[in-house]
Amino acid sequence: MSEERIAVVPGDGIGQEVVPVAVDVLDAVGDFEFVHADAGDAVKAETGEALPEETFETVANADATVFGAAGDTAADVVLPLREAVDSFANVRPARAHPGANALKPETDLVFVRENTEGVYSGIEDEITEGVSTLTRVVTDRASRDIAEFGFDYAAENGYDDVTVAHKANVMRETDGRFLENVRAVADARDAEFDEALMDALAMHLVQRPENYGVVICPNLAGDVLSDLAAGLVGGLGLLPSANVGHANGLFEPVHGSAPDIAGDGIANPSATVLSAAMLLEHLGYDREAASVRDAVEGVLADGPRTPDLGGGASTEAVATAILDEL
Ligand code: ATP
Repeated sequence: MSEERIAVVPGDGIGQEVVPVAVDVLDAVGDFEFVHADAGDAVKAETGEALPEETFETVANADATVFGAAGDTAADVVLPLREAVDSFANVRPARAHPGANALKPETDLVFVRENTEGVYSGIEDEITEGVSTLTRVVTDRASRDIAEFGFDYAAENGYDDVTVAHKANVMRETDGRFLENVRAVADARDAEFDEALMDALAMHLVQRPENYGVVICPNLAGDVLSDLAAGLVGGLGLLPSANVGHANGLFEPVHGSAPDIAGDGIANPSATVLSAAMLLEHLGYDREAASVRDAVEGVLADGPRTPDLGGGASTEAVATAILDEL
C-alpha cells in the first residue's frame, strides 16, 4: 500500500473519544500518514477561530479526512470543510446490524444526498422588518452530478431499488428541475427508479423500509430522511457518512458532539469506525473496508456494547474488541 495522507480532525465532545478509535483501526489495516488538526468550540475559545486556516488547508490537501464533530460551531466548521473537499454528494447508509436492537431489522437503506445547494444554499435575508426569506438554489449541474453518483452507487453496491425523493408538485420550479435531471440521467443509462413525494416517503420508510434501497435526495430532504432512518436501525451511534468530492472526501459519523456524554468514556465508536470503512472504500481499499465492517458487525453481535445499545461497556472496551476482531 502506498502511503496516503489522512487528515484527522476530532473536533469537540465525543469526537475526541471516537476519532482516535477510527485512526487505530485505519492504522491496523493500512499504511497511512496521519496529519492531526483542530477545529470546533474548543479551538475557537482558545484562538477566536472555529476553523483555523491551517486545518482547512490540511483537509483540502489530504487524500481523505476523518472528522468527529463540532459543538455550537458546527456550521462554521463542517460546511467549509465539506467545501474544502469539494463535496457534492453526502452518502448516509442506514443499515440494521444484528445485535443492535433495530426497530426495523430489515432496514438496508443508503441516502445519497445533494450536498451543495437546495435550501442549504445559505442565501437568507431579512427583506423588511419581520419578514425573512431564503433562496432555494437548484442547478442542472448539481442535480445531474448527484443523480449520476446515486445510480453508480446503486449499481456498484448491489442495490436494485433506486428512489428519488422530491416535492415537485409544490416546488415546481426547483424540485421540478431536480427531478427532470434525475429522469434524464436515468434515461441515458436505461436505469429504473421510482419517484416519491418526500412526505409520503417518510411514512413509507417507517412502515416498509425493506421496499427501499438507494434514495437520491435534495439537500434538506436527505438530512431529515436519513435521521429518520437512524431511528429505524438503533440510533445515531451506528450511522456513518461520507462527504464525497471528485478527488477527495470527508468521512464523519452522522451524530454530533453529544455533550451529554462527552468525557464519560462511553460513546459508541461504531459510527466513526464505519465512516473509516467508507474512507477505505473511497481510496480503493475494498477488502480492508469489508474487514473493518465485519469486525464492527462481529462486536455489535457478540458485544461488548456501549450503553446506547443497552450494554455497560466503555468506548475503550469496544475499541479493543473491534481491533481484536480485525
Ligand atoms: P450537537 O449539537 O453536537 O449535534 P447533540 O447532542 O445535539 O450535539 P448528538 O451529538 O447527535 O446531538 O447527540 C444526540 C443524542 O444521541 C445524545 O443524547 C447523545 O448522547 C446520543 N449519541 C450521539 N452519538 C452517540 C454515540 N456515538 N454514542 C452514544 N450516544 C450517542
